[in-house]
Amino acid sequence: MTIRTYGDGVLRRSADPVDAIDDEIRAICERMVETMLRANGAGLAAPQIGISKRIIVLDADDAFHILINPELVETSDEVAQSIEGCLSVPGVDAPVERSVRAVVEGTTLDGERVRIEGEGLLARAIQHEMDHLNGNLFLDRLSPAKRQSLLKEYRRREETE
Ligand code: ZN
Repeated sequence: MTIRTYGDGVLRRSADPVDAIDDEIRAICERMVETMLRANGAGLAAPQIGISKRIIVLDADDAFHILINPELVETSDEVAQSIEGCLSVPGVDAPVERSVRAVVEGTTLDGERVRIEGEGLLARAIQHEMDHLNGNLFLDRLSPAKRQSLLKEYRRREETE
């Protein structure tokens, strides 16, 4: 149950929509939740476990959320910077600007349509995981100079591990 890391092509692909919620999808969601919990993450997107499908799990407020085919329907104009990291780029983090409020709609494992309105950490996690489904990483949101220095640190850490 390894987490795919920076450089793995699956992280750069735009993930495919889920056609039907079947046993395979249920098993993927279970693996995602387990992986997120073990890694102590606030969220996880299916490409991070090597599955290019539009599924995210979130653990950034008082409840778990499993969302299939999620869509970001609203983000606030108001933004804030906060330190952000990613389980797929382990060991480094950087301040990233995000909307302070984000609304996502998607389908639960029971096939129910839900709408989740997030603020603070949940809003940030929603935007971060939605980025993953579109092949984007948090470091893409940094200035080129910041991104370079972060990647340099990341590679240096990788070499010493
Ligand atoms: Zn991430």
